[in-house]
Amino acid sequence: MDTEPKSDWQERTTQQLVRYEALFKLLDDIQQTEDIQQIARLVATHWKYFANVACWRMVIPNGKGFRVIDGFRGEAYLAEVDNLHPWDAYHLAAQMPIQVKRSEILDNPRLPDHLEGNVISEILVLPFIRLGHCTSLLTVAARRDPFNDLDTRFIRIFGSHFSERLSTIQLRQQAMEALLHKATRDALTGLLNRGAIIEHLGMQLARARAEERPLSVVLADIDFFKVINDSNGHLAGDQVLCEVARRLRAHTLAGDSLGRYGGEEFLFVLYPCTEDAAANAAEQFRRLIAETPITLRRTPPQNIIVTLSLGTSNTDGRSDVRLEELLERADNALYRSKASGRNRVATG
Ligand code: GH3
Ligand code: MG
Ligand code: MG
Repeated sequence: MDTEPKSDWQERTTQQLVRYEALFKLLDDIQQTEDIQQIARLVATHWKYFANVACWRMVIPNGKGFRVIDGFRGEAYLAEVDNLHPWDAYHLAAQMPIQVKRSEILDNPRLPDHLEGNVISEILVLPFIRLGHCTSLLTVAARRDPFNDLDTRFIRIFGSHFSERLSTIQLRQQAMEALLHKATRDALTGLLNRGAIIEHLGMQLARARAEERPLSVVLADIDFFKVINDSNGHLAGDQVLCEVARRLRAHTLAGDSLGRYGGEEFLFVLYPCTEDAAANAAEQFRRLIAETPITLRRTPPQNIIVTLSLGTSNTDGRSDVRLEELLERADNALYRSKASGRNRVATG
């Protein structure tokens, strides 16, 4: 067999083909998944094969704050942060691609720890801009030797696909969240809507049964709301609904939930919560509204007294109770509060 050694030219060509192959494979792989964690992991594992990358950081503004992905030693680390590291803040604002040599690193803002901690020879900073807006910032550090021309080109090509892929996924996730929010929220008060709070009650009821712990519901209805509308106008009625919702939500404990059950009716799902605790909570909700008048935003501002009638119902979690039965018992208790004078709590 012919064992003639490969020429330098052949060696270089083979190496380059391996690099192209690795680049295309990674481009293909990140196209196949919607999972940002998985994409980050793929990049952390494979980037070193086609460019001389030791470690990297990708920063993507995500509306509320920033998603930060760090890659080093073959692993990816994801975080959501409100405030950026000085390095990222500086380069995100500058929106300028730059190449920083080892000797120049000290002239720049401090590097993120994982980039600084490695034996690096050079840092490449690439902001990706769309419509004048920086959609992401990539910082990559060279392993041992500085990046050569081919490395830099590979990093630019791949970095721009990586950035595009993450932004697309993130935009889709934000759109889904916005849709879900719209589908489950009441537009006026921002509380869960009727469908969502009933669905939540169904889930919590199943949980109460599984965990054998008590669950309570509280139904609250504004007293003489029609009169409030008739004497102050529908817009004032809306203001009252919003203020009642705001106060009730502010006093709903973590883990409990509140929804707009009907026009001027609110439903609380309290879990875990005994019958006595629910009666106490309902009494607090009553006082929260009755004891502080609601100020209507008009000139001059006008204070009106608003009251609630409330009804509670409960299950100990050990017996089978249907959701409809719990709601009906709370509704009957609410009716008794109304019938016996309003602005009070009845348990059912
Ligand atoms: P009660 O003390 O017996 O509960 O009397 P009420 O007047 O509160 O009850 P009723 O059911 O007679 O009237 C409820 C009113 O709530 C009628 C309806 O026009 C009004 N309403 C329902 N949804 C809204 C809303 O989104 N905005 C405003 N302003 N009014 C609403
Ligand atoms: Mg009503
Ligand atoms: Mg009412």
